[in-house]
Amino acid sequence: MEIIIHSAEQLLSVTGARAKRGAAQGDLGIIENGAVAMRGGDIVAVGPSEAIRGMATRETQLIDASGCVVLPGFVDAHTHVVFAGDRVNEFEMRLRGASYLELLKAGGGIMNTVRATRAASVEQIIVETRARLDRMLAFGTTTVEAKTGYGLDTATELKQLEAIYVLDAAHAIDLVPTFIGAHAIPVEYAGRADAFVNMVTDEMLGAVKAWEEKRQTKGPFLRLPFCDVFCDDGAFDAEQSRRILSRARALGFPLKIHADEFANLGGAALAAELGATSADHLMVTRRDEMKKMAEANVIGVLLPGTTFGLGKHDFANGRAFVEENVPIALGSDLNPGTSWNESMPMIIAMATRYEKLTTAEAIVAATLNAAFATGVGERVGSLEAGKQADVLIASVPDYRHLAYRYGTNPIRHVIKAGRVVV
Ligand SMILES: [Zn+2]
Repeated sequence: MEIIIHSAEQLLSVTGARAKRGAAQGDLGIIENGAVAMRGGDIVAVGPSEAIRGMATRETQLIDASGCVVLPGFVDAHTHVVFAGDRVNEFEMRLRGASYLELLKAGGGIMNTVRATRAASVEQIIVETRARLDRMLAFGTTTVEAKTGYGLDTATELKQLEAIYVLDAAHAIDLVPTFIGAHAIPVEYAGRADAFVNMVTDEMLGAVKAWEEKRQTKGPFLRLPFCDVFCDDGAFDAEQSRRILSRARALGFPLKIHADEFANLGGAALAAELGATSADHLMVTRRDEMKKMAEANVIGVLLPGTTFGLGKHDFANGRAFVEENVPIALGSDLNPGTSWNESMPMIIAMATRYEKLTTAEAIVAATLNAAFATGVGERVGSLEAGKQADVLIASVPDYRHLAYRYGTNPIRHVIKAGRVVV
């Protein structure tokens, strides 16, 4: 055995073959005085310390987790981490009363980041993004979903995808790509949203697929990025979103959707209709739409950092989603406009207070369920034999402290693919 972590006050195994929901949403699979053994980047065994310590050899690195909680690495199920520049000026304007949509209409908002990302080289984007990933890793994030969407033209969307693949290979954090060419209507298409939608369906999706096929050489195991759409006021309506996602599905892309953040345009129901992997944001989703999501196994990705980041109070009703049997995952929504948050423990702290999840439900949402929402639930998100060894040691005596305390970093060790990286 290469590494054995032992004597954890609590080991949260979070085992499960699919996203947890309803009464199981808070099922942490706690092992008292727990241990985990790793070899070759994978988990070999999980169980009580006495049993697992017996697997040690002279070469084994033993890590004592007395007084600590051991849990799976966090999966951040929704980020826009790949971008250039910042929007601190806009933040200051918002503090003085301007709304998100007012900033968008004034040519600010997302278009500022689009201009900066179009102008930046891929190397510059990588340098800026790598610094963010380093800080996310220190807070225990070991896998992130990473979106494009700051290009809004084919060349820049591909440049963002390139940055995602380079960083996935170079950084300890695994990055899972999502193409969201329909993130906003670019200025050159102002007043011509349908023409832009045609460009996404007829040009961009095919270009992304062709680029992926050229880049990936794993033959039959080709997996396309997710395709996502921003379905909301000021972005794309339900019909435009349906056209893009239907075309993407026909080409083989798995689907996601930004739904019900500002206005309810029917995005959550559309996710259920099209069999999307997840619907994200969900601040103004109705109960009947939650039922449709539950029936279609759509994971609800909640992003409390965005509501907080905007200084608003209309948090998603996480409790209602659990009651309606929708599996809930969490993400930071890390982006330069509304939520520059690199800490999943902070997201857990917010989800418990404002979205009414229990601490256990929020931890499942940030690990196993986030892994399934990101398409990697078979590989990460829980501590069980055969999965990749993405393991955290938190300096807290029981798991409830992970939500109770906030604004500090509880993570003492990060192990990524069997290697101690923090
Ligand atoms: Zn987003």
